[in-house]
Amino acid sequence: MNSIDHKKYQAIPDMLRDRVILVTGAGDGIGRACAKSFAQYGATVILLGRTVSKLEALHDEILEAGLAQPGIVPMDLLKAMAPEYLELKDSLEKEYGCLHGLLHNASILGERSPIEQQNIGTWHEVMHVNLTAPFVLTQTLFPLLRDSGDASVVFTSSGVGRKGRAFWGAYAVSKFGTEGLSQVLADETSEAGKIRVNCINPGKTRTKMRRTAYPAEDVNTLLTPEDIMAPYLYLMGPDSHGVTGQSIDCQ
Ligand code: NDP
Repeated sequence: MNSIDHKKYQAIPDMLRDRVILVTGAGDGIGRACAKSFAQYGATVILLGRTVSKLEALHDEILEAGLAQPGIVPMDLLKAMAPEYLELKDSLEKEYGCLHGLLHNASILGERSPIEQQNIGTWHEVMHVNLTAPFVLTQTLFPLLRDSGDASVVFTSSGVGRKGRAFWGAYAVSKFGTEGLSQVLADETSEAGKIRVNCINPGKTRTKMRRTAYPAEDVNTLLTPEDIMAPYLYLMGPDSHGVTGQSIDCQ
């Protein structure tokens, strides 16, 4: 891995021009900031999420800023079945030909509770949205990533996905799985050199999810999603070419 400081990475204007990047959970929080930031650096962004009004608002904001026309994919990752994934692949192929970036950002927290009391239904939902859906999405879109000749897949991890912590239950376990999925896929693709696969840990960031996890916290002590964009831009852009199998921190 090169010795670049991802936290201070300086992207150059138009760095992502002509790159097509799909962001899950693009309507809010960190995903929204990433989609906007990728667009500001020239990418055509595909906004995937479950709340269409949020996706439309971001779509309009990007257009009003004079940036490349984004695509919108209304999709609930908890409910989506095989036909929806295949339809997405077909429409992306038809519209753009290939895919250069895939940011798996959407996640749910579930209820934080001791394993002894973890609700089994919640466990399944968290595992599905946070781990199974990124796996299915990656597998389905893999041919489009390969066709780009230079693709970056980024999975979103968490501090509790590297060291288990009491009461983080399914969420923490799903993030351990995310790190594992990223490593396995990186190892499978490393020889090709055409697809890099990495994990990113945003660290504590001022979003709805963070507020839910820590309702009493002073939000003014937290960085905003916009403050942590440098490592995301690094992983999506040309300077991370050849960097794969890493798990990097934003803070
Ligand atoms: P938010 O809850 O603020 O945003 C999550 C986004 O994911 C929302 O747009 C949400 O949609 C979308 N989403 C949730 N469920 C689904 C679903 N079933 N289908 C489609 N989209 C869905 O979270 P953050 O921005 O805080 O988190 C982003 C990522 O960063 C997550 O992977 C999280 O685990 C990780 N992370 C965050 C940290 C933090 O401090 N914020 C710390 C460590 C990791 P909708 O708008 O409809 O709710």
